[in-house]
Amino acid sequence: MKVIVVGAGVVGVTTAFYLKADGHEVTVIEQNAVAGSETSFANAGQLCHLTAKPWAAPGVPSMIIREFGKSTAPYLLHLRADPAMWSWLIQFLLNCSPKKYSATKAALLGLAKHSTRLMKDVVKSTNIKFDYESKGILHLYGGEKSFTKAVKAEEKIPEEKSRGEVLDYSDCLAAEPALTQSQVKYAGGILHSYEHTGDAHQFTRAISSFLEQEGVEFLYGLSAEKLLLDGNKVSGVLTSAGIQRGDATVLSAASESVRLLKTVSLKLPVYPVKGYSITIPTGGHNGAPSLSVHDHERKLGFTRLGERLRVAGTAEIGAEDKAATPARIRALREHTQKVFPNAGKLELAEPWAGLRPMTPDGAPIISRTKYNNLFINTGHGSLGWSLACASGHMISCLVSGRLPVVEPLGFGLERYG
Ligand SMILES: Cc1cc2nc3c(=O)[nH]c(=O)nc-3n(C[C@H](O)[C@H](O)[C@H](O)COP(=O)(O)OP(=O)(O)OC[C@H]3O[C@@H](n4cnc5c(N)ncnc54)[C@H](O)[C@@H]3O)c2cc1C
Repeated sequence: MKVIVVGAGVVGVTTAFYLKADGHEVTVIEQNAVAGSETSFANAGQLCHLTAKPWAAPGVPSMIIREFGKSTAPYLLHLRADPAMWSWLIQFLLNCSPKKYSATKAALLGLAKHSTRLMKDVVKSTNIKFDYESKGILHLYGGEKSFTKAVKAEEKIPEEKSRGEVLDYSDCLAAEPALTQSQVKYAGGILHSYEHTGDAHQFTRAISSFLEQEGVEFLYGLSAEKLLLDGNKVSGVLTSAGIQRGDATVLSAASESVRLLKTVSLKLPVYPVKGYSITIPTGGHNGAPSLSVHDHERKLGFTRLGERLRVAGTAEIGAEDKAATPARIRALREHTQKVFPNAGKLELAEPWAGLRPMTPDGAPIISRTKYNNLFINTGHGSLGWSLACASGHMISCLVSGRLPVVEPLGFGLERYG
C-alpha cells in the first residue's frame, strides 16, 4: 500500500519507520528543508517512560491563577480573543480533575513503557547516534509540601520497579554533585535511574537519512495545503507542488494538522502551547549535571546532551508566534546561572522556542477517522519525544489493519465526541 505521511518531525519520521517496516511504500511530505526542524528541534531531551504524566492535573488551575502575570511563571497565559484558545483552555481545565488525570496518566504510562522497548530496538537495528544516555532523571521539588505530595504519589505506584528512589537533599547532592553549586535549595528529589535521554533532532535526522537509504521518499520543501476527498476516502494531498496520491494518509503535522483536517470538515482539539530552551556549550567546564534534572518548582528540565546542556520548559498559552521571546530566554539563563553556575558558556547559549501540539487531556491522538484511509498521529504535547516510537508503531498497526500492542481506545479522536 502507498502511504503518505504529512510532517517529518519525530512523530512523522517514526511513523514512516514503522510503516516501512510493515512493508508499505512510504512518502513523507515536509515543508522544511530537513526533518526535525520544528517542535522536535531543541526540546528538553527527556525520555519520560516511567514518569510520563499529563499536564492537565489537579493543582494546575490554581497554579495558573497564582502565577498569573508573572514573567517567570511556568504557565503563562495570554488572554486573547481567540475562540480556539478559549475552547481548548476550558477543555484543559475540565481535564484537571483527579479522575481524568488518573485515567490519562495510566494510558500514557502504558504507551510510554512500550516506547522504551521500541526505542531500544530502533537503536540496535539502525545503529544511529543521538547522544542517547541511560543515566536517569532526578526530579527535584522546591518545597516540603510538593515533595511530600510527590513521595506519596510515588509510593502508590503498584509496580515496585517502576517507583523512583526517594532522596533527601543531601542524597540528591551525592547523586548529582553538580548541584552543590546551586544557590537554589530543594527539599528533596526522586531519582528515576532507569530513564533515558537523547537529542530528538539528531534522532529525527538520523532516522530520516536511514529511511531514505531504505527507499522511503522524503519530499522536502513541499507544503501540504489540502486533503482531497473521493467519497468516504482521502485520495491524496494537494501540495504546493501538485497532488500526491496515496492509498492511505497519516497526518503528523503537529498543530498544523488542525487546519489540514478542516479541509475535510474534521475538528481536531489540538492547540499550540509554546515552550523555550537554551543550549549551552559545556566544553572546558565541569559544572554541568551528568544526570538529567527536572525542577518541578519552575517546570524546567536540564539535560546533558554530549558536550551541551539543554535547559527547557515553560508553557505559554495564547502566544502569537514562535519567536524566542527575549524575556523568557533571559529567565532560563538566570535560573541556570543560579542552579548550575559553572555548567558552561552561558553567553553562547542558543535560544529556541517551539510549539507543542497539545490536546486538552495531554494524551496524543493516534486514531482512525470517519474516512476509511485517513489517520491521525499528533497532539503529543509535552511528551512527543518520549512517545514517538510507540505511537508510530500503533498507527502503523491501525493502517495495516492489525491490533496494536497497547490499547488504542484512550488515544482515539472519538474521545472528543
Ligand atoms: C520546550 C519544550 C520541551 C520539550 N521537552 C520534551 C521532553 O523532554 N520530552 C518529550 O517527550 N517531549 C518534549 N517536548 C515535546 C516534543 O518536543 C513534541 O511533542 C514533539 O517534538 C512533537 O513532534 P511532532 O513530530 O508531532 O511535531 P513537529 O516536530 O513540529 O513536526 C511536525 C512537522 O510537520 C511539518 N508540517 C506542518 N505543517 C505542514 C504542512 N502543511 N505541510 C508539510 N509539512 C508540515 C512541520 O514542518 C514539522 O516538521 C518538548 C517540547 C518543547 C516545546
